[in-house]
Amino acid sequence: MPIDVFMTQLSPTMTEGRIARWLKKEGDELVSGEVLAEVETDKATMEMEVVDEGVLHKILSPEGSIITVGAPIAVIREDDEEVADDYVPAGSGMDNPVEIIEDVSSEEAAALGAESAPDAQPASVAAHAAHDEEEADELNLKSAGIFNADGEYDIVVVGAGPGGYVAAIRAAQLGFKVACIESTHLGGICLNWGCIPTKALLRTAEVINIIKHSGDELGIGVSEANPDLEKAVARSRGISAKLNNGIGFLFKKNKVEHIEGYATFETGNKLMVKDAEGNAKQVTAKHVIVATGARARAFPGMDVDNEVVITYKQALAPKSLPKKLVVIGSGAIGMEFAYFYNAMGSEVTVIEAADQILPLEDHEISKVVARSFKKQKIKIITGAMVSSAKNVDGTAIVEYEAKGKQQSIEGDVCLVAVGVIGNTDAIGAENTSMSVDRNTIAVDDWYRTDHPGVYAIGDVVGAPALAHVASHEGIVCVEAIAEKHPHPVDYGNVPGCTYCQPQVGSCGKTENQCKEEGIPYKVGRMSYGTNGKAMGLAETEGMVKTIFHAETGEILGAHIVGAEATEMIVSLGVAKTLESTEAELAHHMFPHPTLSEMIHESVLDSDDRAIHI
Ligand SMILES: Cc1cc2nc3c(=O)[nH]c(=O)nc-3n(C[C@H](O)[C@H](O)[C@H](O)COP(=O)(O)OP(=O)(O)OC[C@H]3O[C@@H](n4cnc5c(N)ncnc54)[C@H](O)[C@@H]3O)c2cc1C
Repeated sequence: MPIDVFMTQLSPTMTEGRIARWLKKEGDELVSGEVLAEVETDKATMEMEVVDEGVLHKILSPEGSIITVGAPIAVIREDDEEVADDYVPAGSGMDNPVEIIEDVSSEEAAALGAESAPDAQPASVAAHAAHDEEEADELNLKSAGIFNADGEYDIVVVGAGPGGYVAAIRAAQLGFKVACIESTHLGGICLNWGCIPTKALLRTAEVINIIKHSGDELGIGVSEANPDLEKAVARSRGISAKLNNGIGFLFKKNKVEHIEGYATFETGNKLMVKDAEGNAKQVTAKHVIVATGARARAFPGMDVDNEVVITYKQALAPKSLPKKLVVIGSGAIGMEFAYFYNAMGSEVTVIEAADQILPLEDHEISKVVARSFKKQKIKIITGAMVSSAKNVDGTAIVEYEAKGKQQSIEGDVCLVAVGVIGNTDAIGAENTSMSVDRNTIAVDDWYRTDHPGVYAIGDVVGAPALAHVASHEGIVCVEAIAEKHPHPVDYGNVPGCTYCQPQVGSCGKTENQCKEEGIPYKVGRMSYGTNGKAMGLAETEGMVKTIFHAETGEILGAHIVGAEATEMIVSLGVAKTLESTEAELAHHMFPHPTLSEMIHESVLDSDDRAIHI
């Protein structure tokens, strides 16, 4: 008797699946536990294993067809069994929405499945390829090309920040001959003047505040700190130096050639590198990836002199502690420095043009941070448009308009933290056909520019200017060059983190975005105040906020403010990537006692089921 193979329910919510690939062809012997086919649902690609042994007699559903769970997809027979031509598998008549994406006959499909050789290509790559074909129409792609057809290198990366160095290493892993040109330090802004040194300084600030605010309560016998700016800065610089050496080691290990110098494009597809002595040489490559990053922005009227009106670079290595610091801009960078300098003993004022601090964050989260900063005696002025920031006889004078009135404030130092602009001016972009608009290089979904064979990634292609975005773009860019069919970067699920205390971590949509976009949503909230672990840590300030689609239950956004928010947000970002629903997260078991239990309670709260509220 022939055995019918049905579309199996491979996950609790699966109702139908798309046959992405047959791994067996008709006539193949089937051994229990082997993979018979790869099946895609809207959430994942899964493997359907052989359960009944025998010979694959007939494939009923070609690759690309979408089949209802329980409908027949193939027939198995005994080795020497004759199966009648008119054999009809059970369930053949069921209401089956077979939708064939590609018109491939079952024989061809089986042959293709066998030909695409499981051994020759990892299953995940093939599944991505199928997925990619489907997505190709939706992708925004420029034409591909080659920079120097006979180039010495397969790929040359310009800039060794988290975009460039990660792209270079991934390219080497994929077998390309790679060089990375860097004019200053390996690791770019991130390791040397951004993410890493700031976090080292913030640790000092955090411990000072723990001692000041909870030292007595925790019974550690100290409630006053004696901040040492010089030591804190030396520690921070030391960590940067160590990590920057680490990139050099990774380059050696992966055989990425490090070329020291400044790269510029010249006409006629020439990439020139000038070293510190002024010697120039041409470097040839089939593909060039521009990862030149960005630098601090200053608006007209903000006269940065790097002494009194400064940017993040001077703020990271100050000669002395300013008595009064004015910070223009309340994005992550401004807020982190405000927190650090306040903890070290400066009197800090933050001026923000938007009507809330951390303008990109959910409004409720922003309010919690504003309340906390005010408690810490950091002055916040929102809705204030700065018209000028100047060094006037050694004092920073900042003029701004707020509530319809022209006002001014003085500081020993003014930190301008109003964003970054791409390093496009001095790279000879005008000698290429790259399109550059306001210091941002235009790219497609695989980071191709308008110049054949030239790609761009990271801060130089625009917001969000974050290290993890730059690295992700680098990997996707290189994998696309290698035709590995990567998934495009999901800019709707970029984790945003601010590392002051209370910390902020967020992903997906804010509540106001849901409102503006007319998306039906529901919200769950949980406060740190009643969480046992938070009490134990003496960190009871903060909240978790989760936002779900009111009809489908899919997670739309998550926002956390409070201790370890930047670590906790990761789980909700993963949930969003997996398109998890409120029901799935409610079903998931969270360990006790942890701060992450608040995520669970927030999810439950969106369905009025929270236990500890
Ligand atoms: C104070 C501060 C704190 C930050 N904190 C965080 C954080 O916590 N988390 C986060 O995700 N992001 C943070 N960022 C942002 C993050 O640093 C950037 O998004 C990231 O560094 C961008 O990476 P990139 O590779 O695009 O460019 P970059 O890191 O800017 O690297 C570009 C590199 O290219 C080199 N270069 C430029 N032009 C040339 C040329 N023509 N030839 C050769 N080399 C060249 C530069 O010297 C540089 O090393 C912070 C930024 C700042 C300023």
